[in-house]
Amino acid sequence: MNSHVIYGFAAGTAGSLQRVDVGLALYPVLPLLNHSCHPNTTRFNAARGGHVVVVAAEDIPEGAEVTDSYGQSCLTSSREDRRRSLLKNYNFKCNCR
Ligand SMILES: [Zn+2]
Repeated sequence: MNSHVIYGFAAGTAGSLQRVDVGLALYPVLPLLNHSCHPNTTRFNAARGGHVVVVAAEDIPEGAEVTDSYGQSCLTSSREDRRRSLLKNYNFKCNCR
């Protein structure tokens, strides 16, 4: 079992949306997906009921690894910030570019 960040979105500057971490959740199956800073899936957390839905964010060829972001994305943070956070929170060194 592994914890995953639950996040929402809030209005940012100039009409943009800004990701806001709102908590952590434990899922029995989701940890089967390895982390990528550029995952090929995205997660949606249900507001009620504790469900999570994982959908492909791009075409995933047969046999390719299905990956999830453990909370750090190359779209939202620098490589150094991602590496520091993943090492601290998940105890592994991220080798993504
Ligand atoms: Zn990474």
